[in-house]
Amino acid sequence: MSSSKSLDAVFNHIDGQREDFLARLIEYCRHPSISAENLGIRETGERLVGMLTGIGLETSLIETENHPMVVARWEKAPGKPTVLLYGHYDVQPPDPLDKWVSPPFEPTIRDGRLYARGVGDNKGQHLAQILAIESHLKVHGELPCNVILLLEGEEEIGSPHIAGFVRKHKDKLKADLAVTADGPRHASGAPMIKYGSRGVIYFELRCKHANRDVHSGGFGGVVPNPIWTLVHLLATMKNEAGEITIDGFYDDVEPPSPEEIEAAANLPLDLPKVMESLGLKRLDAPADLGYFDRLCFRPTLTINGFHGGYGGPGSKTVLPHEAFVKCDIRLVEAQDTADILRKVQAHVAKHAPEVEFIAAEKGMLPSKTPIASPYTAPLRRAFVAAQGEEALLSPAGFGSLPGYVFTKILGIPAFVTPYANPDEANHAPNENLDLECYHNGIRTGAALLHELGQFQRP
Ligand SMILES: [Zn+2]
Repeated sequence: MSSSKSLDAVFNHIDGQREDFLARLIEYCRHPSISAENLGIRETGERLVGMLTGIGLETSLIETENHPMVVARWEKAPGKPTVLLYGHYDVQPPDPLDKWVSPPFEPTIRDGRLYARGVGDNKGQHLAQILAIESHLKVHGELPCNVILLLEGEEEIGSPHIAGFVRKHKDKLKADLAVTADGPRHASGAPMIKYGSRGVIYFELRCKHANRDVHSGGFGGVVPNPIWTLVHLLATMKNEAGEITIDGFYDDVEPPSPEEIEAAANLPLDLPKVMESLGLKRLDAPADLGYFDRLCFRPTLTINGFHGGYGGPGSKTVLPHEAFVKCDIRLVEAQDTADILRKVQAHVAKHAPEVEFIAAEKGMLPSKTPIASPYTAPLRRAFVAAQGEEALLSPAGFGSLPGYVFTKILGIPAFVTPYANPDEANHAPNENLDLECYHNGIRTGAALLHELGQFQRP
């Protein structure tokens, strides 16, 4: 059988199983698995072990310090690449419940979509990968390449143990590339391949002068104002041109490659529409930077909140005694979370030693895979074969995902191939997955395995 015929046979199987595959998704979404509330997590992990063992994968539930990981493997294609497919089986809490049209754990179909908590984020997406594997095994009795499936149970609480887990089980996770189906397709509805994500760190600045609020007449000009102290400090951290002025902040920023610049320029954008929908008259400084260049290639310093003093009706002639600021920084390759926190801390110590600097423990490194990766071609072919449409290439996801555990700990290229509709309402009430997107996701997963089976190492 020619190779395209062998994929056609798998497509035919998938197309014929539409009803059954939908029933399987409905059944999967019926069971809550809320990591934040420790509800149904272990049961769901065990259910997955049963399902994956049943389709012929060697599967185990591996403990972490909290919720267990599911690891399944099929490695009977010597000489072929090994793909590590990542997903997460935990879901967000469903609150506020009264905003759901149908209950979050009673999956319901309306207008060609399935509504349920976790259906897009991420149960429908990793189930699509699983059903793609199952379909290949059913039709051909084997897979075209080697597969390791890694399903996490605490992504929705910030993946606190995945880095430690991957470091500890490096030998069990040896692969040539990692692929994650998560998040929505491009806003235009086009399929998309994402090559990384920005990292993130959080910190807080606290300033206290007097031991209580005082009269702004009785003490103004004598007692220092903590809000002014923080305003002056913040003004030394970013200038009006939009440059972050912390010593050494940009030292490790990797300039984008020509392929990355081209890919960012090719992403569709209706800027007037974006600005209108946000009620914006201008974009943030620097004015001359491209929209996606900002989101893919530049780090940020964001003031999330500034608190202190009086904010009630009328006026109050008070001189407040304390104030604080919360900030986050989005990092790009190859900035390092600990290094940047140290630089911010040194900046604060130099410019305002009386301000307390508190770094949050949680943070995430950025990750990046070059678009010039040899796996770009098979991934693109998989989208065309499965969906009849070229995928857009996005040099980065703009938010933060733990892709660095693959690129930095395992040292392999990592790709995100979202299957969900752009309006999946993940994390919100009425989360949904377009049934066409789900079906296309299964087909794309199948085509991906097929293309990797054809892959010739460079
Ligand atoms: Zn999520």
